[in-house]
Amino acid sequence: MKLKTIVTTVAVCCGAAASAQSVDAKYLAYPSYSGEDLELTVNSKGTHWRLWSPGAEAARVMLYSTDRNTPATDTLEMQRSTNGTWIASVPRQLYGSFYTFSVKDNGKWLKETPGVWAKAVGTNGERAAIIDFATTDPEGWASDRGPEIAHINDAVIYEMHHRDFSQHPSSGIVHKGKFLALTEPSTTNPEGEATGVDHLKELGVTHIHILPSYDYNSVDEANLPSNQYNWGYDPFNYNAPEGSYSTDPADPAARVTEMKEMIKNLHDNGIGVIMDVVYNHTADNDDSNFSLTAPGYYYRHREDGTYSDASGCGNETASERQQMRDFIINSVKYWAKEYHIDGFRFDLMAIHDIETMNQVAAALKEINPSIFVYGEGWTAGDSPLPADQRALKENVAKMPQIAVFSDDIRDAIKGHYSNAADRGFATGKPGQEETVKIGIVGATAHPQVDYSKGNNSKFPYAAAPTQIINYVSCHDDLMLTDKLRKSMPDATDAERQRAARLAQTIVMTSQGTPFMFAGEELFRDKQGVHNSYNSPDSINAIDWNLKHQNAEQFAYYKELIKLRKEHPAFRMTTAEDVSKHLKFDNVKEPNLISYSLTGHANGDSWKEIKLVFNGSDEVREVKIPKGDWTIIAEDGRINASGMGTTRGGKLSVAPRSALILALTK
Ligand code: CA
Repeated sequence: MKLKTIVTTVAVCCGAAASAQSVDAKYLAYPSYSGEDLELTVNSKGTHWRLWSPGAEAARVMLYSTDRNTPATDTLEMQRSTNGTWIASVPRQLYGSFYTFSVKDNGKWLKETPGVWAKAVGTNGERAAIIDFATTDPEGWASDRGPEIAHINDAVIYEMHHRDFSQHPSSGIVHKGKFLALTEPSTTNPEGEATGVDHLKELGVTHIHILPSYDYNSVDEANLPSNQYNWGYDPFNYNAPEGSYSTDPADPAARVTEMKEMIKNLHDNGIGVIMDVVYNHTADNDDSNFSLTAPGYYYRHREDGTYSDASGCGNETASERQQMRDFIINSVKYWAKEYHIDGFRFDLMAIHDIETMNQVAAALKEINPSIFVYGEGWTAGDSPLPADQRALKENVAKMPQIAVFSDDIRDAIKGHYSNAADRGFATGKPGQEETVKIGIVGATAHPQVDYSKGNNSKFPYAAAPTQIINYVSCHDDLMLTDKLRKSMPDATDAERQRAARLAQTIVMTSQGTPFMFAGEELFRDKQGVHNSYNSPDSINAIDWNLKHQNAEQFAYYKELIKLRKEHPAFRMTTAEDVSKHLKFDNVKEPNLISYSLTGHANGDSWKEIKLVFNGSDEVREVKIPKGDWTIIAEDGRINASGMGTTRGGKLSVAPRSALILALTK
């Protein structure tokens, strides 16, 4: 998320302006509570609530028989308890009921809230629901496991939105735009080619990264036939799934069960699930669940007491405060344990502090060593949090188990993200070579890479290539096809497809973890819309007929992913190995990079792999040492098993293409 999804005017926090310092001092004095019984517990003795609200003058629980539009059936006054919490109980298991909290602050009862720890909710997340989670597990859930991977860079990540992926009539999927879309086997487009989960398997990606799937604010779950679309970067209930992706938002168990069924089916097919999490801000300010339970506490403020706004969405959360830090850590732990999530992508991660992110990664690795964490190593605006404490890209070496997106390789390959006409290495703009090389070595220190010539970063910020996510486009900004159309206005789509293949070849063969945006393998577009967060399906939905029309493009991507997965040389795990085994050749022409992965790098069966990238629109000649080379990629074609041989010497590299050769023994 980079651009605003919700525009909120700056509001004064808590009704009274106070200096940031006095605000901080007030919250530092709050006790914290990290017990697992926060907000709701149901056990043999009944139903129990424990709300953390240290500043409250009083607190209540309201009980309801339905999820909305009905009066409370009962109101319970809560009692003060330990560590800033308030408790109430009833001696019965109230499964099937709904509840909200309200706290009294400055003599006034605040609006009702489902709390910050609602794990099940009704329509639009207005009321929390009391359900028996044991009944939400699909068959075989106890033994469900995601793919085991030794290192994050063994993953090939596919970023998708539920609605993009299945909404188009050509998907052949019944549960369009729903979690259940990813449970349907043998779905096809009108030409009989695989869509849905079968498509993912055919493509060979290891993990899907789903855009926000917690309960967000913007889509009216009471009015789903209106077909609203939103990316979901406007968090409401962090610990419950989004209702519009379920078949019945009014049934609190449906969204839980259906999301689990989706994950189970993906796991059964060997595919992991990464959640996009947005703890950095909330959709509302004073009306957020955070503000309505502990006014002000969860947010950072400016000197004048107003909400600071490093998210560009009206507020930013305060991960350095104990209860907020615990909230983030316990929330991801909950998703990992209850939903078997395999990875987390942190939106605007640099709004969080380094210590929190390190604790997040450590807590998740303890649950499952295969879980990985990556994020956007930047903010969308300035923050009161000092830069040296922010989980910035530049600070990633201080977060050994975290990876960050490489905007270096992204912009160097295709051109600047916000300047539509700007070109990059793969589309013929000279001078990008050194920045592409920064991506190729996974932003680690390398004797042949001159970081002073980097466009964005000026030093090797990653301690290991496992700290870098390489990509050329994602949901933000112009996606690759649209970027190529805008920056190569006089080219044909065939020529642009060659550029796309070259761009993805650089990404998929670079050291680090490759990441791609859903549908790029079909050369989909979004009709030039760069910020499609609430655009209609006609912009966002993937037209699966493209799989037929652009069959060669798909075949190339599939083979490229296969090549990466078969060869550990592309997946080195230490900076030392990259330094030792990755050797650039001395080529002088613009838009030309040539390098080798040598000495059976990272235990590869191949002795040496030679990669030459020509981003120009001219044929380039390179000198390849004599040897029994197998041709893996040439002139816009690729075959991981080889397609002929060459003895080396002076070889031509076609315009906008990759030449990949291998000494297979
Ligand atoms: Ca929602």
